[in-house]
Amino acid sequence: MNIAKTSGAELTPEDFLILMTCDGKTEQDPDSERLKHLEMHGLIRPAKDGETLTDWQKVRFCDNRYMPGVNWSITGKCNYNCRHCFMAKDNAANLTEFSWEEMIAALDEFDKCGIQTIELTGGEPTLHPRFMDLVREIARRGMDIDVILTNGALLTREMLREIKSLGFTGDFTGPDPSKCVFYNKGYYRKAKKAFDEAGKECGKEFMCLSPIPALDGSM
Ligand code: SF4
Repeated sequence: MNIAKTSGAELTPEDFLILMTCDGKTEQDPDSERLKHLEMHGLIRPAKDGETLTDWQKVRFCDNRYMPGVNWSITGKCNYNCRHCFMAKDNAANLTEFSWEEMIAALDEFDKCGIQTIELTGGEPTLHPRFMDLVREIARRGMDIDVILTNGALLTREMLREIKSLGFTGDFTGPDPSKCVFYNKGYYRKAKKAFDEAGKECGKEFMCLSPIPALDGSM
């Protein structure tokens, strides 16, 4: 038997023991009622010939409660003053950011929780003085960055090339102009240019932080 992806079924301790042996290699008792129950809820299915578990399906033991991903605001500071945003530049003095030591401590905790994907956000995450060090450290630990939420103004060609070379797999989506209200219209033009260049350089698009209300109040 192999482990399928999802189910809303409640699991008993016995179910967990069965699931731990569902690896595509171990023969199961076809008359087991619990096995039938798990299959009925789509948690397991017969493995095809030669099929074993993917990395995502393998059982992981975590020191802390398991969470697959995090959205991490590494700094509250921003270089823009969008009118709707509490993290705007004028508020920077009141907002804090993670120190490098705190970042490493947080990554250690993420490791213990089995976290595999990280969404980096702020404020403006690229404004953090250790932003690229953090990106490298995440890559070194074998975690993936699936989104960088940025206004794009501080992205450089070198950063983009390095981000690409580190092999992150996530898609980055660009801002929707109809849903962006930058305080200064020049911000949008700058951001759009940065996103366009980022797309060409990285084969990915980048996205402005936070859902931004349009002038009519819709999101
Ligand atoms: S919306 Fe984004 S770019 Fe604008 S101030 Fe907030 S964090 Fe900065």
